[in-house]
Amino acid sequence: MTYYLYEDGNDMGTVHEGSCSDCNHGAGQGVGIEKPDTLSPGWSGPYETLSIAQAQVSHLRDAKCCGHCLDGAWLRRHGQDC
Ligand SMILES: [Zn+2]
Repeated sequence: MTYYLYEDGNDMGTVHEGSCSDCNHGAGQGVGIEKPDTLSPGWSGPYETLSIAQAQVSHLRDAKCCGHCLDGAWLRRHGQDC
């Protein structure tokens, strides 16, 4: 299992499992399920564990886990760790 972080450019991040349909191993939504050669803009990873991926959000104002592939829990809100 690998994990990816998506940043929307507005200080908001979302952590996904690589296999999530919104993530597709960093290719993004609707791109297909094959592992891409390069990540789409906004994506970073892969991270080997969820805790490593969650540690990448410390510079963001808001961040949460994906509500589809993970539990949807907030990691940061308004610049504070949750
Ligand atoms: Zn997801």
